Amino acid sequence: MKKNIKDVVCRTWLKQPTKNSFEKDGKIFYFCSPRCKSKFEKEPDKYLALKG
Ligand SMILES: [Zn+2]
Repeated sequence: MKKNIKDVVCRTWLKQPTKNSFEKDGKIFYFCSPRCKSKFEKEPDKYLALKG
């Protein structure tokens, strides 16, 4: 089962889960790099508000 995963920080589609993952509200988010992950960790709501 393949699912596209979006890095919500830089808005890049990831082909597969990366080790740069972060869980919030029971949902796991994946990021292309540790840098995107740390940005999300600091302001998750900012990035979750930017949909589409
Ligand atoms: Zn990224």
